[in-house]
Amino acid sequence: MCGIVGYVGERDALPILLEGLKRLEYRGYDSSGVALPVRGRLKVHKKAGKIREMERTLPQGLSGTSGIAHTRWATHGAPTDLNAHPHVSNDGRIAVVHNGIIENYAALKTMLQQDGCVFASETDTEVFAHLIAKFYRDDLESAVRNAIHYIKGTYGIAVVASDRPDEVVCARNGSPIVLGIGEKEMFVASDVTAIIAHTQQVIYLADGDVAVLHADSYRTTNADAERVDKDVQEVDWRIEEIEKGDFPHFMLKEIHEQRESIERCFRGRVIPEFGTTRLGGLNLDRREFFDIQRLKMLACGTSFHAALVASYLFENLARVPCQVEVASEFRYKNPIIDKNTLYFAISQSGETADTLAALREIQRKGGRVLGVVNVVGSTIARESDGGIYIRSGPEIAVASTKAFTSQIVALFLFAVNIGRMRDMSPALGRHLVEELAAIPGKVGLILERAGEVERLARKYLDSRYVLFLGRGVSYPVALEGALKLKEISYIHAEGLPAAEMKHGPIALINEETPVVFVAPRDELFEKTLSNMEEVRARKGRILAITNEHPTDRRVEALAEDVIYVPDTHEALSPLLTVIPLQLFSYHAAVRLGRDVDQPRNLAKSVTVE
Ligand code: GLU
Repeated sequence: MCGIVGYVGERDALPILLEGLKRLEYRGYDSSGVALPVRGRLKVHKKAGKIREMERTLPQGLSGTSGIAHTRWATHGAPTDLNAHPHVSNDGRIAVVHNGIIENYAALKTMLQQDGCVFASETDTEVFAHLIAKFYRDDLESAVRNAIHYIKGTYGIAVVASDRPDEVVCARNGSPIVLGIGEKEMFVASDVTAIIAHTQQVIYLADGDVAVLHADSYRTTNADAERVDKDVQEVDWRIEEIEKGDFPHFMLKEIHEQRESIERCFRGRVIPEFGTTRLGGLNLDRREFFDIQRLKMLACGTSFHAALVASYLFENLARVPCQVEVASEFRYKNPIIDKNTLYFAISQSGETADTLAALREIQRKGGRVLGVVNVVGSTIARESDGGIYIRSGPEIAVASTKAFTSQIVALFLFAVNIGRMRDMSPALGRHLVEELAAIPGKVGLILERAGEVERLARKYLDSRYVLFLGRGVSYPVALEGALKLKEISYIHAEGLPAAEMKHGPIALINEETPVVFVAPRDELFEKTLSNMEEVRARKGRILAITNEHPTDRRVEALAEDVIYVPDTHEALSPLLTVIPLQLFSYHAAVRLGRDVDQPRNLAKSVTVE
């Protein structure tokens, strides 16, 4: 789930490991630790809490040229010093860091205890250390291989042995592991951000792979222990993208990056003269498009909201029936897979466990799945039958912002594409892609007025509960606005279709309840105005996000505060209306003193179910 870093080379490993861990901090974690083979012994230090706490208490003289490190996000056992990784075998020869969950750990623990192993922690991970030690003579790779035969569950692991200071062994099944190739040094990590400062040459392991790293060589083998020469890939972004620059938080930086990230998503993918789009990696024959009768999108969290926005575009613009489902529900209902349905797995990280499981279930049953993913080389990107990279660049803040808008753009491009193959006119297609091209500039205009949103966030800060309402494409924007506020400010919030309010939540409205209306002047604007009236009649306080109008002052008459966004085609309005909501949550959270980039209890990519 959380972070792994490993190093073997000629330099001092400790600073490299610590720096790598700090680059992974954004993912959220509760404890951290390191292990280094030093003069025939393993030196291990680990601590609950922040990395700097672990660093501050490091024993003197911990230096060596290899080691492994971890940030843990507890699944089994509380976040304590003892449960932090690395975990060490009883003979002190093997240290392991692990991301994931070992499902059969209880049975393995009993077996190992019968063998005389004494467990020091409550984690599932510790069985790995004892199992590897059980098989270890002088070949660490085969000991790891033997151990993983026993394991049921998910893992990304990195292992060192006390008597092998020149070697790190790693393996993956369901939890990402990437190798970094340097000059006389090798790196391993669960996420390239940990190692990008040192190398851009990387190898992504596949499930079942085991890799053995030495300073000047590496070897990768697959699940059948056959040697496989894996492609070395070049990471196409640079270290500045994962640094805050002048911004106080990654989240604010990423909100401000949306001008560029949206543009990057559509650049080179639109064909203005034909009013259509071109998407490279779909792996779909043009003729196969005609067989698509339905679309189904699987996603979680913010990606789910982006998919909901897209479902309006698919039905309304492209005239293709489209359903959206939370991946965790879909995967367990023995879903019916239909050969004329095209499935989408949408995930920023490309590692979301439930979305990945949904993808695999569909493929097992013969369905075709496209991935809509940000992280290049991620599991969903590799396992899907084709897909669209959203190209938003690394997203570090736990609360997703720029990935959300890029997911919408990517799906919009697909909607125009399939729409133009059906009954979307060239004129409409042209209009849509022109409007899309104007979005980055309009995002820029909203960001220029960010100070106004900050003032409003302060004003509504004392609320215990905020309601977000919208209709049509603005309904998922309302859901996203509520999710953002909840996850980073911890103020309770709920997003609803504006008309649903009457079926219950209206009971919550009184003079203390702020109600945020996402109300662009679209086809449903008049209907939304009626809902505003209903809230006003119950003395609710309205904050409206809408478009400016030269004469119509009805929103202004009903709302206590109004935030204006530029006009656009209604299908694209979520790309604009969501931005003030992101800023609103951000500033509320900052004022409340929250840990904005790493909100409590949350992790960046949810790789456990
Ligand atoms: N399941 C392991 C534990 O609770 C690993 C957690 C993680 O992925 O960080 O220790």
